[in-house]
Amino acid sequence: MLVISGVRLLHLYPPSVSDPVDIVIEGSKIIKVGQDLHLIYPEAEVYAPGGYVSPGLVCSHNHFYSALARGLMVAIAPSKDFVQQLEHLWWRLDRALDEDLVRYSGLSGASEAVFSGATSVIDHHASPNCIDGSLDLLREGFDTVGLRGILCYETTDRNGLEGAAAGIRENERFALALDEEKREARKKGIPEPLVEAAIGAHAPFTVSEDTLDALVQVCKTTGRGLHIHAAEDKFDAVDSRYRFHQDIAFRLDEANLLGPKTIIAHGLFISPEEIELCNERQVYLAHNPRSNMNNQVGYNHAIGAWKRPVLGTDGIGSDMIEEAKFAFFKHRDAGGSLWMDSFLAMLQRGNEILEQYFPGKRFGRIEAGYEADLTFWDYDPPTPLLAANLAGHGAFGLSSRYVRSTMVAGRFAVKDRRACFDAEGIAAQSREQTKRLWQRMEDLR
Ligand SMILES: [Zn+2]
Repeated sequence: MLVISGVRLLHLYPPSVSDPVDIVIEGSKIIKVGQDLHLIYPEAEVYAPGGYVSPGLVCSHNHFYSALARGLMVAIAPSKDFVQQLEHLWWRLDRALDEDLVRYSGLSGASEAVFSGATSVIDHHASPNCIDGSLDLLREGFDTVGLRGILCYETTDRNGLEGAAAGIRENERFALALDEEKREARKKGIPEPLVEAAIGAHAPFTVSEDTLDALVQVCKTTGRGLHIHAAEDKFDAVDSRYRFHQDIAFRLDEANLLGPKTIIAHGLFISPEEIELCNERQVYLAHNPRSNMNNQVGYNHAIGAWKRPVLGTDGIGSDMIEEAKFAFFKHRDAGGSLWMDSFLAMLQRGNEILEQYFPGKRFGRIEAGYEADLTFWDYDPPTPLLAANLAGHGAFGLSSRYVRSTMVAGRFAVKDRRACFDAEGIAAQSREQTKRLWQRMEDLR
């Protein structure tokens, strides 16, 4: 049992800031929150870091496979459009990944996430020359670091029919193996895995009708939802109308793929009718503003029309406060009327996805019965921090540099700014692996 003593609770949305309280944690859960609880549990270990504690931050769309692309020194031809960017850069990167490269991409991505205050990352993985077992390799990063996650393999036709079938197979294998592992854990009374499975697909323009049918089947057999890019660029929306004679959302809905476990990433070129349909089906829209700016695909002006928007980074680390700030400032720049509280609400909503994928567990509040996924902040602002101005602090003050500790399921991943795993070893090994990755990318030219 652990008592976190004398900390102020910081809920980003709905905003609230408490007086100093104690949080009692047993196993993976918060069992009590209140004043002076360390007196009631004198035998418990006490941690009194001061500052603020918030529910752990959730990154709702990421690609750890691109973790070793930072500072990339490979000759990449200039691109005229988004599809060329995929061909020249991202699809060359993912084809170059082998077992060790997937492993170290996951380890370094997970390590950085917990230092940024993220406690959960929803990942979308691709490694076309290393598909079978790739989600297990990726998972090693989550397990080693102690990061929660929802993993999937991005099924696509772009590497032939066998590639598509292997993607389907990997999604199904990983999900069913997790079901078995959970059953065993419950039987033995040991902690359940920190990771869950979604069913991944790249994007509608690389998913044929046959592959779509296979995705529908595997969603059914595993009870999971689809995690897919859609209309990240206009090309995807146009292709859907040209080849399939339907808007993307209507095509996915006809296949019965839209529901409360569905995550659509980007969704820039989705019509108002499609947004209405997605809202009816309770679909999550993962907004990735930094990635959209970087890829020059445009701005999602309709972000305010979505009922369930969440925030992702699309591979640009897992610093969610930074992503929320970019989301806010880009929105202001584009003439939008939303205030920062809307973007903190998007960040908070990632917890709802966790509740969809980890049935029976509660996420996103510091209250008895919730999972002890927590972010600790050393934030000591020069102006009052109150519920009424929390969004202003979010936009103009709070940042990941104030993250002191990160806890997932009652266990510290980072404590007092020190990793509870071999972060230095992971970084050093990753730099070695990166040399190999970049050479492999050169060789793929
Ligand atoms: Zn993405």
